[in-house]
Amino acid sequence: MKEIVPAPPAIVRNDYESIRELFAKNVVPSYGRFEIVLSHGAGSYLFDVTGKRYLDLGSGIAVCSLGHASPAITEALVEQSKKLIHVSNLYFTEPQGRLAAEIVKRIGAGKCFFANSGAEANEGLFKLARKFGHAEGRFEILTATNSFHGRTLAGIAATGQDKVKKGFEPMMPGFRHIPYNDLAAARAAISPATVAIMIEGVQGEGGVTPATPEYLLGLRALCDEKKLLLLMDGVQCGHYRTGRFQSFQRILEGVPGGEKFLPDGLSMAKSLGGGFPIGAFWVRSPYQDLLGPGTHATTFGGTPLACAVALKIFSVIESERLEEQARKLGDWMKKELERLVQTYPTVVKNARGLGFMLGLELAENIPAFAASDKSAALQFVNRLHEAGVMTIPAGTHVIRLLPALNLKPQEAAEGIAAIEALVKLLA
Ligand SMILES: *Cc1c(COP(=O)(O)O)cnc(C)c1O
Repeated sequence: MKEIVPAPPAIVRNDYESIRELFAKNVVPSYGRFEIVLSHGAGSYLFDVTGKRYLDLGSGIAVCSLGHASPAITEALVEQSKKLIHVSNLYFTEPQGRLAAEIVKRIGAGKCFFANSGAEANEGLFKLARKFGHAEGRFEILTATNSFHGRTLAGIAATGQDKVKKGFEPMMPGFRHIPYNDLAAARAAISPATVAIMIEGVQGEGGVTPATPEYLLGLRALCDEKKLLLLMDGVQCGHYRTGRFQSFQRILEGVPGGEKFLPDGLSMAKSLGGGFPIGAFWVRSPYQDLLGPGTHATTFGGTPLACAVALKIFSVIESERLEEQARKLGDWMKKELERLVQTYPTVVKNARGLGFMLGLELAENIPAFAASDKSAALQFVNRLHEAGVMTIPAGTHVIRLLPALNLKPQEAAEGIAAIEALVKLLA
């Protein structure tokens, strides 16, 4: 029982070339992958099959909230799987009910639905909006340019980036894009068919751009005035990443009127399961019962196993005070990145973000990158890989730091030192 995955023949084991070949022959090539074959991890470190160690500041794109091989997650998986892995949503189970209560407690009065991914959680919110407007014939959802909402057909229609739509036209009808952080544009875009506005509290794939407090409060008032649902995609920026459970709680901290702000629907995934697939959406009272029996469902959503893991993650975040960790250490890292922007303006142009959701924008025309046609972000990320640090590109000029919530201060310092060394080299 020691080896969970059956041992491959010795010749395949730990062989970079043969694993690459398995992919080349058998895996749909829909991803642009880095030339790294990973084998195992521990905390914020990952190891590839050649034994090289990486400090992981990407955590699976904001997924591995407790790092890799977390003993707490292993324990939750083992204990729950001995009792019950899956039952149909035709029945009740305790973990799903308790997890819903934990989420409601952290946001506000409402209810939760459980899915398996971020795209699916958003699909649920789109269906909620359609149901909400159905009697009046309203169906249109406004989303922001540069947004990202997932790769399903509705997800790519909702996403405000052409690159995800290309080749998959015609787009599903019912989505239009508005410039982000522009309240006047949102007001001007509303048509008689509009039923909802969906935004990310901090745009992730779009390059780590937080919403302004005025935008959030303004959209809330606008949605109330026009009877629209205000939907927030918290898939990447949620789950304590910004130093509060949800990004709007951090953005609106200390802002007059901010403590009363709530969206009408909010999607979650990524960090919620720490690497075990789970998605969810929360819907505010009084819309919490709009999706009645028979209107929405999924086989795997909210299994006892997924919910037990998510519950364990909540308890670890609380007992280890990781909310504070993300805020304090993240804010320290941001100051360090800002210092790099001051010191090396020909290489780094801007540092932004909140807590452990940080973006470093690279300057145009870095001379050392001129020889390659790869984007500056990709070349920068590749150079950091050589230095043993993992980060995530966003668009052509931004690299993202999305570390585990339990990143340690010395690991944060190690990451900053590696980034500084590279920036200095490129200057
Ligand atoms: C990752 C992401 C999604 C899609 O989540 P999947 O689990 O990949 O379907 C949706 N919205 C945002 C903001 C994301 O970052």
